[in-house]
Amino acid sequence: MYLPFFLITLFLSGSLGISILRRPEYQTDDYYTYEEIQEFLKGLEKSYSKRVRLTDIGRSYENRKLTTITITNGDGRKDKNVIFIDAGFHAREWLTHTTALKAINELVVNFEENKDLLKNYDWIVLPLVNPDGYTFTRSGEKFTNETIVCNSERDVKCWRKNRQPNDGNCIGTDPNRNFAKGWGEGVTSNDPCNFTFMGTSPFSAPESKAVGKEILSLANSRRGIMYLSFHSAIGNIMYPWSYDSIDAENAEEHIEVAQSAVDAIAKVNSMVSSNYSVIPGYKLYPAGGTSSDFAYDVGFPLSYTVELPDSRGDLVFKFHPPTDLIKELVEETWIGLRAMAKKVIQLYPVKRS
Ligand SMILES: [Zn+2]
Repeated sequence: MYLPFFLITLFLSGSLGISILRRPEYQTDDYYTYEEIQEFLKGLEKSYSKRVRLTDIGRSYENRKLTTITITNGDGRKDKNVIFIDAGFHAREWLTHTTALKAINELVVNFEENKDLLKNYDWIVLPLVNPDGYTFTRSGEKFTNETIVCNSERDVKCWRKNRQPNDGNCIGTDPNRNFAKGWGEGVTSNDPCNFTFMGTSPFSAPESKAVGKEILSLANSRRGIMYLSFHSAIGNIMYPWSYDSIDAENAEEHIEVAQSAVDAIAKVNSMVSSNYSVIPGYKLYPAGGTSSDFAYDVGFPLSYTVELPDSRGDLVFKFHPPTDLIKELVEETWIGLRAMAKKVIQLYPVKRS
């Protein structure tokens, strides 16, 4: 009497059943927690093992894994160019991780639609650079979709830095002021209580160190072509330099690639689309020690900080868009990112010698 039921259960939980049942589904109903992001990545690795590989590139100060996902088309070629994306440097910039996960989902789950982006390129994505800071921002009252104005870091939802202790009472280093290029220049601070604290030396924050190592290794192998770091919320696509008022040598190429995103977004969503400005980073304000300056400095020919939008129509949401807007915001950004990638593949079709 128990046997048929047992067999059905065995079948459902067997290898075939499990891969169908556990295939992860990308959702935009709410913001992912750190644990949910890890779970999503692990699910993809399990379901798409021929095209996906996870790597722990380091640990956060509180010992959370910093996990990259390498996405390929599964043909086994090892010398392809690479687009490297990260998100979530700043704890309160909640839209950035889910934007990175959207790109991952498009490249892995919607592979057939996007396989032209993986023919001669691999993509490496680190969806959450600062898991400690982000987890801290979720430790207060539950997010209620009300607009939160972050004038200081007093509200836990407005925390920006990592959670590394300093001498004295103040916690945290700004991981995007902790890279080696132009460290200490521009809008940053050597005061550990300041929300742009640059750290005690370049790469003193373990999160920046791990990302820096990854960038350097991709630049040294000459596979790294475009680096892109998602931040929010200003609505700019910024290219080097940030640390000083100088334009990158190939500023025009940077503008051409970024403009393809702006145009693609405007085409599909002309009524309410975000109107990105394409500017050199210093035009927002000079800031040294940023990841995108570092990537460009060590040899990525294209390097961007993408500041996601802060508003939709009349609604200003800054770092925490209401959850019912997540879907259209991440879809819009993917359209822009795909256009940028297509342009990059056109400009750099083969590996540089
Ligand atoms: Zn930021």
